[in-house]
Amino acid sequence: MRRFLPFFLAVPVFLFAARTTASSPLDFDQGVDVRPVIQQAREASVSGGAAVPEMPPADSDNPVWISITRNDAAALGGEFFKRAVAGQNDKISIYELKTSELDLLSDAMQRKFRRSPGFFAHDSLPSALQDLEEPPAVAAKTYSIDQGEKVKAMLKLVKEDSIISAIDRLASYKNRYYRSATGIASSKWLYDHWKELAAGRPDITVATFRHNAYPQESVILTVRGTAEPDKVVVVGGHLDSVAGGGDSPAPGADDNASGIAVTDEVIRVLAASGYKPAQTLKFIAFAAEEAGLRGSREIAASFKKEGVAVQGMLNLDMTNYKGSAEDIYFISDNTSADQNAFLGKLIAAYTDYTWSTTRCGYGCSDHASWTRNGFASSLPFEAKFSECSPNIHTVNDTLAQMGGRAPHALKFAKLAVAYIVEMAK
Ligand SMILES: [Zn+2]
Repeated sequence: MRRFLPFFLAVPVFLFAARTTASSPLDFDQGVDVRPVIQQAREASVSGGAAVPEMPPADSDNPVWISITRNDAAALGGEFFKRAVAGQNDKISIYELKTSELDLLSDAMQRKFRRSPGFFAHDSLPSALQDLEEPPAVAAKTYSIDQGEKVKAMLKLVKEDSIISAIDRLASYKNRYYRSATGIASSKWLYDHWKELAAGRPDITVATFRHNAYPQESVILTVRGTAEPDKVVVVGGHLDSVAGGGDSPAPGADDNASGIAVTDEVIRVLAASGYKPAQTLKFIAFAAEEAGLRGSREIAASFKKEGVAVQGMLNLDMTNYKGSAEDIYFISDNTSADQNAFLGKLIAAYTDYTWSTTRCGYGCSDHASWTRNGFASSLPFEAKFSECSPNIHTVNDTLAQMGGRAPHALKFAKLAVAYIVEMAK
């Protein structure tokens, strides 16, 4: 039986308590009233719509620290941001929240701005305060395209059918929420599945990355480089899904089963072709992206701390909804302009796809975690940011809503294959 706890019963204290003592009920510090957003969520929960957060697990009172732009905090208003600021510069503010509030904030960001999470969440204040500093500079890199024969042979092996079946499998979980039983199960399934793909290849290993603050684990498949194993190229996307927060149904077929399915297809093609990279490849499915890029941030920070020589990172987040005229849109903010230009050249060299650029704002997906740690990262995206799938973060983010096919995701798989071969040579 579902523990049905309507939104307005679950969260009244911090959302509404302070309002009773305010001089005016609309006396927000600045910006826009968040209450219509909350009201929408409340109505949706009463009518059996998308947003029905269930009772959060016992760790929900644990503190977390978020960094968010001052503009977004002001525009959201509400009780999240009436608390004392734990640190700030001219653009970014740090706030302490409870773990359970991350879902509410992520949901409010999605409803108000149609982007989420749009903030970073950290397990400690010192970690959050780093977001007030400039990220370390990315090391200069020379890109080249000269692996035509190898790339073309592998591109022939990229198949829409296997992408479809991976999306279908991942979207079959009730949700892949980072603190739910099915969120944990989906991570375990991916681990087992990647183990199967790695069978017979002693140079390929699969491991999980355990996060102390929540139960969903990230999954990492490593292909050890034959010539320069210390140089590492990263490809991945987020495993988790959410619709309104908590244990609500969230198939997340486009966001982001489609990105994991593309990652999965690159691994499958790599294994099927017998390809062995000169540099090491790491394919990563990140936990807890929707709750503030938590999984990717912890992993990227650990790579930085351990001095891993990351040559580049390709983030795959939403690949199967063609909402705009061009095929692929590179996110131009918080990414590497040099690597983006290289990816554009790969498209021209190996496909007949068209591309353009678009912006997605602060902390919009896992590439931002790598940029924050001084690594070159890119996000090739399914559409102009304002024209992406309208179904994400709802129960309607299904494969059926995307016509049961994956012709758009196929393009991203081909780009990713070209990327790994031309990068890890
Ligand atoms: Zn996403």
